[in-house]
Amino acid sequence: MDIRTGQGIDFHRLEEGLELWIGGVPVSSDKGAVAHSDGDVLIHAICDAILGAAALGDIGFHFPDTDPRYKGIDSRILLTKCVELVGLKGYQLVNIDSTVCLEQPKLAPHIDAIRESLAAVTGLDKSRIGVKATTTEKLGFTGRREGIAAQAAVLIRSV
Ligand code: MG
Repeated sequence: MDIRTGQGIDFHRLEEGLELWIGGVPVSSDKGAVAHSDGDVLIHAICDAILGAAALGDIGFHFPDTDPRYKGIDSRILLTKCVELVGLKGYQLVNIDSTVCLEQPKLAPHIDAIRESLAAVTGLDKSRIGVKATTTEKLGFTGRREGIAAQAAVLIRSV
């Protein structure tokens, strides 16, 4: 059996009056992500981790932000396509672990819904999806609420 690991990271600027989507879940916040797509930083990090595990490049290569087809797109569609792409290479997802960095709002009340959302999109059991959140103790761009970041790690195995 061929087992591979992948990692991904993503960042978005935050501005007032925009929607904040995390893991396919709308999170109530005064600030949302500036992006060509829906700006779902967590899903983007997971997409890059999945693509990276199969050495298939990155999300910007497959879904360029210069392409009008992806303007405002629901990132769950991108995640579905990434799972399909590694599937075509003969791999299936084993698990996902991830961390979202933001100062506010607290994500704890949303973590369960985010895991369920990611399970629905990827086909993984919820028990195989880790979602964690941290502040950066008011340090840096995330601490100043200028932006949001997410990291993800995945394992894939040959089918
Ligand atoms: Mg992104």
